[in-house]
Amino acid sequence: MLTRRAFAVAATRGLARGLSSRAARVLDALDIAGDREIPGVYDGEWHGAGDVLESVCPATGEVLARVRSASPEELHAALGRAREAYAFFRSVPAPRRGEILRQIREALAAKRDELGALVSLEMGKIRTEGVGEVQEFIDIADYAVGLSRMMNGRVVASERPGHSILEVPNPLGVVAVLSAFNFPVAVYGWNLALSLAAGNATLWKPSATTPLCSIAVTKIVSSVLERNSIPGAVAALVTGGKDVGESIVESQDVDMVSFTGSEHVGRIVGRTVQSRFGKVLLELGGNNASIIMPDADLALAVPAVFFGAVGTAGQRCTSTRRLYLHRTVAAAFLSRLQSLYAAVRPGDPLAPATLLGPLHTRAAVGVYSAAVERLRKSGAEILAGGAVCRDLAGPLGGGNYVLPTIAVPRGVDVADPIWREETFAPVLCVGVFDELEEAIGWNNGVPQGLSSSLWTRDLRNVGKWIGPAGSDAGIVNVNVGTSGAEIGAAFGGNKSTGWGRESGGDAWKQYVRWSACTINFSDEAPLAQGVQFSSTA
Ligand code: NAD
Repeated sequence: MLTRRAFAVAATRGLARGLSSRAARVLDALDIAGDREIPGVYDGEWHGAGDVLESVCPATGEVLARVRSASPEELHAALGRAREAYAFFRSVPAPRRGEILRQIREALAAKRDELGALVSLEMGKIRTEGVGEVQEFIDIADYAVGLSRMMNGRVVASERPGHSILEVPNPLGVVAVLSAFNFPVAVYGWNLALSLAAGNATLWKPSATTPLCSIAVTKIVSSVLERNSIPGAVAALVTGGKDVGESIVESQDVDMVSFTGSEHVGRIVGRTVQSRFGKVLLELGGNNASIIMPDADLALAVPAVFFGAVGTAGQRCTSTRRLYLHRTVAAAFLSRLQSLYAAVRPGDPLAPATLLGPLHTRAAVGVYSAAVERLRKSGAEILAGGAVCRDLAGPLGGGNYVLPTIAVPRGVDVADPIWREETFAPVLCVGVFDELEEAIGWNNGVPQGLSSSLWTRDLRNVGKWIGPAGSDAGIVNVNVGTSGAEIGAAFGGNKSTGWGRESGGDAWKQYVRWSACTINFSDEAPLAQGVQFSSTA
């Protein structure tokens, strides 16, 4: 943790940009200049003439850099260049595209720790999670290298003699990726890797509060593209806020919008893209539950719930927000969980010993406080936390720290906003049940359907949980927490989480244009279903 004195010394050590040494070290390692405005648009060249975005460190409140976002003209031009880049790239053989991805993977791996530190500095998650996020990009790049030789179509048996039917995947066009603040590297990675393997041009609009992560990643990716004489707009970047996002979503030049963010914005994005018959992939909010059965191994379950609820300061889409405890284990579980909560102290996310970093913005602190206040007013018992942390020493006093909170509302009512809304902060609501069916009903009774987790050793419970009457979420875990997925399976949620799937599994199939091609290699031209359309018949 930084002391006030250490910070003052660092600040006076002649850092020309006036940045703390803590921040300067991280930015320097990635060649990001904090002392002048940074261009936030890349479409083969770097520029930026739009509004200025300030990147603010959530841990200290320090302004890290100022970024010039995309003006409307620049966005228009970037979309044009992305279209041109697509026209070139779609004809590059897929395994060759895979080779470019392999080089991107290598370039990312060489900067893994530096990029991970930047994620920590700009987003606020602890360093190991920042590095883990970059690792996720590396992993999906590996996956997509293999995929580039396996994006197979099918041959379908035809009912007509001398005919064959092929289902053929071709590149789709320009894919826009609109990403959320909380995964400022990995979400783009999941999308870029599949989109690039599929032969598309990808245009990224990151969150307006994490422009530096997107610039650092784009520098790494573009250096590989340039080395291979591939147009840079194959991986274009346009930083900006809501206006830039809206223009992308409305643009007919964008064939698919992959949107990751809140339910509220996702609803608008989904409608807009649908209204122009574009393709849309939605990855929206989660309101994830863990269920603890009487036979659960508490030595495993308690730390997993702790990580799910407190990790990333509760700012993962898969964070554990609801905890349903079987009556027979409720007291023991809560007492162990409270001990872990009592021991955790907020601190500098870049420091190796810190488990709890800040919330991303000041506004998020307000959202946390309002949620705690609402719980208190409704009569919920607050077992841990429930307060904003204003007493951190030195520069951390300017950060957005809150105490992770455990609340036991007066009962479980999934119609109540306490249970059915996603609060993007470390607030865990606890309910007590008697029968698994009751807990599954509560798990499924909310609008969201992202992640869910059951803790049991009884195979009968497992069968119920993953079967037709079980969890309706996109991620259904057993003896694994709600948070922290691998890239191999398709990732995403059902219901108001948007039904999107990214990353592994069959997710790649959304990034291509499918055609059914019937080929007649006979000397007749029969119609399907035996239809006759001849006057001599
Ligand atoms: P957000 O919805 O505020 O912003 C997401 C993106 O949309 C940003 O790039 C933002 O600039 C842009 N945007 C804002 N208004 C827009 C508009 N009208 N039109 C087009 N674009 C617009 O979300 P956030 O606060 O950055 O992220 C947190 C949310 O994201 C949480 O709800 C979280 O659960 C969700 N999330 C979901 C997943 C998932 O995979 N399901 C992953 C990460 C985050």
